[in-house]
Amino acid sequence: MAVYTGPACRRCRALGVKLFLKGEKCFTDKCAFERRPYPPGKTRNYRKKLSSYAEHLMEKQKAKTAYGVLERQFRRYFKEAKGQKGETGANLVILLERRLDNVVYRSGFASSRKEARRLVSHGHIRVNGKKVNISSYLVKKGDVISVSEKMKGKEEFKNMFEENAKRMASSWINVDLDNVSATFVDIPTRDDIQPPFNENAIVELYSK
Ligand code: SF4
Repeated sequence: MAVYTGPACRRCRALGVKLFLKGEKCFTDKCAFERRPYPPGKTRNYRKKLSSYAEHLMEKQKAKTAYGVLERQFRRYFKEAKGQKGETGANLVILLERRLDNVVYRSGFASSRKEARRLVSHGHIRVNGKKVNISSYLVKKGDVISVSEKMKGKEEFKNMFEENAKRMASSWINVDLDNVSATFVDIPTRDDIQPPFNENAIVELYSK
């Protein structure tokens, strides 16, 4: 599947859920989904009944769009999740959560996962002091995430970080506002995470 380059808010409206793709705007009353919670181009109460296959497909689209992952990579995550002990769906959610771009976002270094990917690919992110520019890098328990000196020196960035870190606070990431860093203290459990999709529907889809 090609990368979707259209308006982000249309994705939320088409998929029927807030996917938090636009950073700051998602937390304000300017959020397009809050204002028009029905598919683009349709009228207010329009949401047609989907077949179970279409519903499962939609759950996968939500997951891929929220985490910014393309089909081939998503299938790889699924395969890896299936090979792990425990429930495949839960393993899949946890693998997605461990992506470096996601951890950068959850730590508050960026307002959206897209912005986090940009920070990573532009070489502004450090893991245990070493530059890592691969968004799909899987963060491990105890890893310390920080930013380049250039980013640290920007007052605007620090203000944004403080604001985001407060909003995104999670039990598995310990944010150090003074040192502009975050420690991935533990791998989250499935119950810690509230993904905007139903992972069991994805498992069913791939099992067909
Ligand atoms: Fe747009 Fe964010 Fe609202 Fe989605 S959650 S509709 S991306 S503002």
